[in-house]
Amino acid sequence: MPEAYRIHRHVSESDPEYQGNLEKRRKAYSGSHFSADLIDRHERGERADFEYLFAKLFRKYLESLHDKGSYSISRGRILTQKFSEIFSDPSVRGLLIKIFEDVPSDPAELASKILNKIGQAPQELTELLYAVSKFHSARFEKEKLEFEKFVQQTKESFKLSIAEAVEAGSLPEEALKSLWRLEGVGVFLKDILSDPTWPNVAAYDPALAKIEVGSDLVEIEGWERIRKTLFHEFFHVISGKAINFKEKIGSIEDIESARGKIEGVLDIKHGLQFKTPNGSHYVNSWINEAVTEYLALQFSGFEGEGSYSDERSDLSRLLEKGLDAKLVFRAYFENFVQEDHVSGERWQFGKLVEEVNRIEGQFAFARLEKKYILRHIEEKFIDMGGRALGEVEAEVLDDPDTLKIECSMGIPSQSFLQKTFAFPLRPDREKALVRLKSFYNWVGSVYGQKVKFNEMSAPSNGGNN
Ligand SMILES: [Zn+2]
Repeated sequence: MPEAYRIHRHVSESDPEYQGNLEKRRKAYSGSHFSADLIDRHERGERADFEYLFAKLFRKYLESLHDKGSYSISRGRILTQKFSEIFSDPSVRGLLIKIFEDVPSDPAELASKILNKIGQAPQELTELLYAVSKFHSARFEKEKLEFEKFVQQTKESFKLSIAEAVEAGSLPEEALKSLWRLEGVGVFLKDILSDPTWPNVAAYDPALAKIEVGSDLVEIEGWERIRKTLFHEFFHVISGKAINFKEKIGSIEDIESARGKIEGVLDIKHGLQFKTPNGSHYVNSWINEAVTEYLALQFSGFEGEGSYSDERSDLSRLLEKGLDAKLVFRAYFENFVQEDHVSGERWQFGKLVEEVNRIEGQFAFARLEKKYILRHIEEKFIDMGGRALGEVEAEVLDDPDTLKIECSMGIPSQSFLQKTFAFPLRPDREKALVRLKSFYNWVGSVYGQKVKFNEMSAPSNGGNN
């Protein structure tokens, strides 16, 4: 039986079991700092395995330079800049000269040289990697202090601007009432060396009550950008919530005895996005991010380019066509509380969906959601070496080594959306099919049964058509 959960019961945010649970998870995290514990151990004269840690880091760094994804390109560039500074520090440089006859100036070349030495010259290499760690650590600690000071200031100015907006009537009362949550959320600077393939700029994890901001943002971007980013995450924190306990109802041997047992806390609503008990997909995350970034840009006064531009342009179009911004904000900040459901006074979210459908036609809201799901699937497909096909191209494509796959969502009479993809079966057909299967599994685990695939051409083996 597959894992399955049922929403058990609604809880209030002040519920002691919920707060205790949150507190425990919050305490379990203290931030990320590359090699900090190794430095301590080394200084106490204990064995510290720097080689293992750096082998992993350098490998990821070199991979990011070969990967063509736009994200890897920027991360690779950042790491190159970081290593070039580290390697030119005099104390590091001295050790490099002792180990290598000639020290290449290109950081990637040098990283790969060090990588090749790992396991061969333990003592000298440990000294070198310790020096690299010390240099990096001192710098990170300094950045962290500056960052923490900046977070405090930003938090205060965020609170002030929310209070003013509520006073002026542009944001609903609930925004102000939810500000207290900020005090319970840890804001951490994430050391990018400790996780070089982290795919975010910043992220809020409600389950762990933490916000993390990548250290590359501090080094590469200015404080204005960080302020906007913090505003974005703070809006996520104070946006409307609904908290439920979930109960496991599948994949355990003795279902009867487990029935009614609380399995964990499920934050089912965040702003405008909702979580289903099974699968990892958040429903309506496009509009949730659009509104969050819209607010962050407006309230932080940031003048550079914001994130989620496609999502924001869909939102702007709706607002221009007459969608009431106040209704959007009421739905966004709405906390679902049991008693309100009974009174029937709330559910601004339902009104929002109705309004969007009134403005852009039946099923318009669902259609927008599907558009973004298909886009996400397309991005993953491109990562795998596939591509989306244009309509004309789909007609003419006649390559026996390319599989044509139709991806569709929904029922045709409603907001049906469909896209055709091409997936190359070269050079190794077997391997390609294995990758395709794991892609289907990934889609299933994220979106459940919503997304359907139909392999249109099953080309014959060997190239004859
Ligand atoms: Zn966000």
